[in-house]
Amino acid sequence: VIITVGPDSDAACVRQELVHRGLWVRRFDGADVVRFVVEPHSARVGREELLRIPGVADVSVPKSTTPLLDGHPPVVRVRGLDIGVGAAPILMAGPCSVESEERILALAGQAAAAGASFLRGGAFKPRTSCYDFQGLGEQALGWMRRAADAHGLRVITEALEPGEVPVVAAHTDVLQIGARNMHSARLLRAAGATGLVVMLKRGMAATIEEWTAAAETLLVHGARGVIFCERGVRSFDPATRFTVDLGAVALIAHVLQLPVIVDPSHGAGRRDLVPALCRAGIAAGASGVMVEVHDAPGEALSDGPQAITPAVLASLGNELFSVRQPTTRDCRPSLTIGSRVS
Ligand code: PEP
Ligand code: MN
Repeated sequence: VIITVGPDSDAACVRQELVHRGLWVRRFDGADVVRFVVEPHSARVGREELLRIPGVADVSVPKSTTPLLDGHPPVVRVRGLDIGVGAAPILMAGPCSVESEERILALAGQAAAAGASFLRGGAFKPRTSCYDFQGLGEQALGWMRRAADAHGLRVITEALEPGEVPVVAAHTDVLQIGARNMHSARLLRAAGATGLVVMLKRGMAATIEEWTAAAETLLVHGARGVIFCERGVRSFDPATRFTVDLGAVALIAHVLQLPVIVDPSHGAGRRDLVPALCRAGIAAGASGVMVEVHDAPGEALSDGPQAITPAVLASLGNELFSVRQPTTRDCRPSLTIGSRVS
């Protein structure tokens, strides 16, 4: 943003007014005009307000590269539940992978009892090694949908490629884009075209600019809303699997005023750090947390070391989500698979 001072005005007074509003500015003296360039870490002040400052002749705002995201509301509603800035934090819980019908049903019951409003679980798994468990596909989606419905939970699950999007969309309430696919433009287009709310995980080496640009792609192609998910970025230190970037969480929540979820399970890669990072994420402004849970983490087909047990989930839920979240049972009586209630 560039602010031009009027020819007969006192630039020092204008500067004082700008600083008073939380702007950091650099002064450039031209031949017959003074301009202030606003630094990016400044408070967000609207053009109209700046134009009202005595002595300001013009304010030029560069064209935004994310116009739809700029107009995105701070809260999205998914089947009667508000998620976002100012809404009560939500809990998304479930296994890394959907492993069997019985197990996902039991975990759904435990998630609901702990105050979760979403059941998570992978049917199509993005694995670093092609020799690792790849998920049970469509049948797992059906088990998950039925388990969630049986316990009044919403579903969040991931599609890995555009061809999978329709079947995933038919079973889920929020479509998840994983960290490894944040840059996948074709997948973002297909996900957006479902018209669903999409949770966009941050790529493990993605800047906020790249992350928000990916969110814009979803919105341009028709996504009803976007929820960001900070799941840790690659850092220099292998002591934790990734580094949960709480600065990014605070920035998205407090500066951009957009919904952001923290995933400490993938972020830390170890279950003993999950409760502390849930607390930290919410303190930083997160609209909720997503955690991996398994009744026998040692036997889990994927990500066992970072799965908390149902008992830990229950105490976490009690501590952070003691107010029971409204569930799908509280909104509409007859929901069919894939129905969209906003
Ligand atoms: C997941 O949430 O199932 C997952 C694979 O996470 P990420 O994309 O953050 O690695
Ligand atoms: Mn996982």
